[in-house]
Amino acid sequence: MINMARPQIGDDEKKAVLEVMDSGIIAQGPRTKAFEEAFASMCTTKHAIATSSGTTALHIAMLANKIGAGDEVITSAFTFIASANSVIYAGGRPVFVDIDPKTFNIDADLIEAAITPKTKAILPIHLFGLPCDMEKIMAIAKKHNLLVIEDACQSHGATFKGKKVGSFGTGTFSLYPTKNITSGEGGMITTNDDAVEEACRVIRNHGMRKRYYHDEIGYNFRMTDMHAAIGLAQIAKLEMFNQKRQENAAFYDKNLKGVVTPFVPEGCQHVYHQYTVRVPGGKRDALRAYLAEHEIGSEVYYPVPIHKQGFYQTDYGYHISLPETEKAASEVLSIPVHPGISAADREKVAATINEFMAKG
Ligand SMILES: *Cc1c(COP(=O)(O)O)cnc(C)c1O
Repeated sequence: MINMARPQIGDDEKKAVLEVMDSGIIAQGPRTKAFEEAFASMCTTKHAIATSSGTTALHIAMLANKIGAGDEVITSAFTFIASANSVIYAGGRPVFVDIDPKTFNIDADLIEAAITPKTKAILPIHLFGLPCDMEKIMAIAKKHNLLVIEDACQSHGATFKGKKVGSFGTGTFSLYPTKNITSGEGGMITTNDDAVEEACRVIRNHGMRKRYYHDEIGYNFRMTDMHAAIGLAQIAKLEMFNQKRQENAAFYDKNLKGVVTPFVPEGCQHVYHQYTVRVPGGKRDALRAYLAEHEIGSEVYYPVPIHKQGFYQTDYGYHISLPETEKAASEVLSIPVHPGISAADREKVAATINEFMAKG
């Protein structure tokens, strides 16, 4: 079976975890601090704050940016549910605009029309490892005095015009095992803003500045040092992992026929968390079944856009239509691109897809 994902765990990760276990400090401690420093350096930000997951990174980022009751946050609905849920956790309301059909990311040209007096922030999601149009998004944010919180959970190390995603506004990352690097479970927030950093640290740890004196409501969203040890070993390999993903993607770009391969706008460096094609002619699900028969994994990210999730309709009253988002959900298929696949694997994947698509 050629799987969709496989965490690349080596002796470095194993040894690092054992060292933590022998050290006497297994919860948040010196390894977490070292991982934060390495992550900030990778992301070229002043600060990085480790969290228990990408979801809690997003949740904290919303609270640290003071998103609250009545605030609107403009984002896209073609993503993992955590992106939009984070706004709801904070008491705000996600306002969905449609995606650019070429990139699957938020269509920056539709943002201004969605701004109301309640709009407080834009939440661009760098989906599948491809940066959003941060030039347009930052210009709109500046013009309308909006905050920018980036969901970079799928795009560790990706750049827009040479600048790392997660360094434009408040950045949020996931370290789940399928992501470009992992810590088992875990997340990271990145920022250049000292006040946001302070707020993130306090919210992460039960609103405490001084031990057992609680200034505000907070949470336990901390990372453990065992997870941080894995993350530290992984971040040293991020560039190599991303390079392998890019090599696999370049092979598919060159060799796939009959499907629409990913579009990369000028100035964007794609890190291919997913390699996602469009399958025309209503053949997506049949192609997926054909690949499964040939022991090739594939996945639909995402079959149900967030505004179409049942509870978003019943509990939150979303009855909107986002044509490009809905069309993408019915056509996309992601195929194995992770660093663990061999040259023979990717050849088999491409040949099997081409064989199916040629059948008409
Ligand atoms: C994975 C992911 C998250 C959530 O991260 P977890 O670590 O799974 O909590 C949020 N947004 C996007 C786009 C993701 O892919």
